[in-house]
Amino acid sequence: MHPVVVFDFIFFVASLIGLAIILQGPGRTFKSGTKRLIAGLVLFNLIYSFLLGLEWSGITTAMETLEDFIGALIPMWWAFVFYAIMQEITTGDLARSEDKYRTLVEQTPLVTYTASIDDVRSSLYVSPQIKTMLGFEPEQWLEKASSWASQIHPDDRKRVLNKLKESHQANGNFVSEYRMFAKDKQQIWIHDEAAVVKDDSGKALFIQGVMSDITKRKLVEQEREGLLKVLASKNEELESIIYVSSHDFRTPLLNVQGYTSELGDSCKQLKMLISQIQIPEQIQKQLFSLLNEDIPTSLDFINSGAKTLDTLQNGLLRLCRLGYAALNIQPLDINSLICDVVRNMQYKIDNSGVTLNVGELPECIGDQEQISQLFANLLDNAIKYLDPNRKGMIKVTGKIYEKMSVYCVEDNGIGIAPEHFDKVFEVFYRLSPKLFVEGDGLGLSIVSRIADRHDGKVWIESDPEKGSRFYVSLPNSAERLSSERILAKS
Ligand code: ADP
Repeated sequence: MHPVVVFDFIFFVASLIGLAIILQGPGRTFKSGTKRLIAGLVLFNLIYSFLLGLEWSGITTAMETLEDFIGALIPMWWAFVFYAIMQEITTGDLARSEDKYRTLVEQTPLVTYTASIDDVRSSLYVSPQIKTMLGFEPEQWLEKASSWASQIHPDDRKRVLNKLKESHQANGNFVSEYRMFAKDKQQIWIHDEAAVVKDDSGKALFIQGVMSDITKRKLVEQEREGLLKVLASKNEELESIIYVSSHDFRTPLLNVQGYTSELGDSCKQLKMLISQIQIPEQIQKQLFSLLNEDIPTSLDFINSGAKTLDTLQNGLLRLCRLGYAALNIQPLDINSLICDVVRNMQYKIDNSGVTLNVGELPECIGDQEQISQLFANLLDNAIKYLDPNRKGMIKVTGKIYEKMSVYCVEDNGIGIAPEHFDKVFEVFYRLSPKLFVEGDGLGLSIVSRIADRHDGKVWIESDPEKGSRFYVSLPNSAERLSSERILAKS
């Protein structure tokens, strides 16, 4: 047998196997068009190999022209089949990855959507979670072009649409939080974030966004705000009670102090009178013991109690006044402010022999009087609580950190143990160091109060062996000051 016939036979069988594999291949089904193309190719191959077999086995050469014609068409047919299969593979992969993406997106609790660039209010696609979030079927949502805008709470609608317009005119990115009505009229808080999707040339194609339900978070925030307001009003109430009662204390306290002193004078007169009259020696002795010891000792106790009450009451009034005083917020040159503070306490500084170093300090904004008082209290403490066993050193430094001016008053004094770090800011809290130092336990409470009124903070780092660092952070710009303070300013 001629070898071409053998090869022709092999070609025939191989074509049949190829056809079977393509049609039955694992997990792949072809579209009918592709199947027809493949069938055509196999048919061509079979006819061609059949005609080739006739020719080379010597049966007949009559169909040689048809054989050549079909043979010439086969490469072209192969190209068709190849193209169709490649296209199927590519679109199949794309569809599969789109499916995967869609499943992923549709499994999150967020609503994803796309909207038209020309009419940003009308959605082109909305994920099925819209049903859980707002109770609408996706088709229902897309049916009405104005679904989204019409479900926004009327009080928020204008703001949101304006924001959308602005962001559309700028870079296209949109972030907003607003209230929406669900299908059952329930109010839902939404966090909405969208961005413009562009092609390679930068042309805007459509808007893609994500909406999430933040109702729980908003409710907690509203509750917190409500509680803070109640707390603030209770604090105000408490302060006014303290203020009024401290004021009302004054008259009886002055009476106690005045009558105690009168009682002391009366005792002295009584002593003189007793010494001038004739009474039994035993009784005179007893009377003198009462007038010289018992009554003066009691009067001393009453006096010192009244003095303590006076100090406490004055301290409370000072603290309350601090809360009431209107703030005159302005940019402050802390370098010159500290210079004034230091000048006012020059005598104390010279007397203590301390070396004071003031570095270059950043500006801040605040009420000049209160901020001066804050630094005066910190410097006063730094001098008061120096260690008598070493030469005193005090350093004032500052830097800007996250739009806050952070100042540090550092000393090498007796220091504070960590367990007292928070407590020293409490009203009337004093430590009992070995050395006796005068004070009313209010200096740091006032510092903390002033920092608080300026939306600032105060904290301590200290080592009882080495000294303390008192840090104060104050707003560097009006941006960091809460709206309440800005209102207070105006
Ligand atoms: P006072 O100085 O009148 O006692 P303060 O409120 O100013 O009240 O301070 C509270 C306590 O904190 C003080 O009694 C003192 O023990 C401690 N303290 C404050 N400043 C310093 C300091 N720079 N070094 C060490 N201890 C300090």
